[in-house]
Amino acid sequence: MIGKLNPSEKQVTVVGAGISGLLIGYALKRKGYQVAIHEKSNRCGGLIESKHTACGLVETAAHSILVNESVKSLLDELGVEVIGVNPDSKARYIYRKGKMRRMPLTFFELLGTLFRFFRKPKLNKPLADLTLAEWGYAYLGKAATEFLLAPFTTGVFACHPSELNAKLSFPKLIPASPDFSFFQHFRSMSKKPKSPRGQMMVFKNGTEELIQKLEAKLKDNIIFNSPIHDLNSIKGNLVLSVPATDIQYSPLVTATVFFNRDAFPKSPPKGVGVLIPRGEGLRILGCLFNSSAFKGRTANPNQVSLTVMLGGTSDPEAVSLSEADIESIIERELQTLFNTQAKPDQITISKWSRAIPVYSSNLCNYINHLDQTFCSKQGRVIFSNFSGQVSIRGMIETIQSI
Ligand SMILES: Cc1cc2nc3c(=O)[nH]c(=O)nc-3n(C[C@H](O)[C@H](O)[C@H](O)COP(=O)(O)OP(=O)(O)OC[C@H]3O[C@@H](n4cnc5c(N)ncnc54)[C@H](O)[C@@H]3O)c2cc1C
Repeated sequence: MIGKLNPSEKQVTVVGAGISGLLIGYALKRKGYQVAIHEKSNRCGGLIESKHTACGLVETAAHSILVNESVKSLLDELGVEVIGVNPDSKARYIYRKGKMRRMPLTFFELLGTLFRFFRKPKLNKPLADLTLAEWGYAYLGKAATEFLLAPFTTGVFACHPSELNAKLSFPKLIPASPDFSFFQHFRSMSKKPKSPRGQMMVFKNGTEELIQKLEAKLKDNIIFNSPIHDLNSIKGNLVLSVPATDIQYSPLVTATVFFNRDAFPKSPPKGVGVLIPRGEGLRILGCLFNSSAFKGRTANPNQVSLTVMLGGTSDPEAVSLSEADIESIIERELQTLFNTQAKPDQITISKWSRAIPVYSSNLCNYINHLDQTFCSKQGRVIFSNFSGQVSIRGMIETIQSI
């Protein structure tokens, strides 16, 4: 969140009824503010939509959430049910050298990473200015950066660690002193009181249920078809919960693919999913094994649901491909991964040309600029997925500290 509310002014205008606008609107209403949420379209949720299709559930954007105690307390208060990963399907894979692997590093690469873990890093710039790749090379080494960190950041931000500012994207990775090895940092962190990381969960009835429950609590406060362009005329507190026009977002295509079980000659993939580093011969960025990891993702038990991601900053052309081209890439690459022997029963595609903000050093500068200009006046706040937290969990934790 950028900026501060003016607590002596009880009126709040929130612009945007995506998850960020709804969460902050709800938190402020509970605190006794008079809230008016202006949404330019005729629906709430922005990027988030859950489609209940003939084959099963399709999420257009957020599909899962890390649930810790503070997230759980809000979900319980709203009456939103979440379900955890099936205990026998917890494996996560990285694709390397033609195979899905739980540990993608070789023995010697692992030794090199362990060595760096205990070594004081060689840094040529201040910790706050490091890209995530520079951080990774210094603290973990090249192999762990390219085959563990890079697929992970692709899964969260759809871009490479070299595009991310380490402190902005993963603040907990930054040690208190540049003289600390990663091991010393780890030890100092374990002495601090921790906020529990939480468990990966999905929404039983789809992520949109969270939107609907918030919308129900705010039904008298949301004004649809009400785009706000002129901010000067707004009285009282103003919260902007809309995307920024002048920052970089990674483009993304997601496709939820339903197969009959018989399409897999052995058995469907088991686990949470696989991430695919660039340079391994596949265009897709990763694949979630929805029906293996979570209950209730398909209309009937003979079906298998997978969600495939394509695009990101390394492949921006993907969002301009036709649906037929996207389908043929996905079918071909799922065959490479799982040896599928039949065509999918259904593919539902969502395309986002501006999907996820790139948490880069440019974004750091932009946040500082907003802090010193628009948000320097008390009562002007920015709370959106570029203002510090891209995930729903992060947003919930932020509004709970208002
Ligand atoms: C493919 C994908 C997968 C993801 N997976 C996950 C995940 O698994 N877990 C997770 O936690 N997060 C995930 N995320 C991130 C998360 O979904 C987003 O960060 C979040 O939904 C963004 O919400 P928002 O409210 O900030 O923005 P938006 O959803 O973009 O909402 C902005 C709202 O503002 C409205 N608006 C815009 N301009 C105006 C205006 N001038 N006046 C009035 N209204 C306006 C828009 O119509 C829209 O409703 C994913 C994102 C994507 C794209």
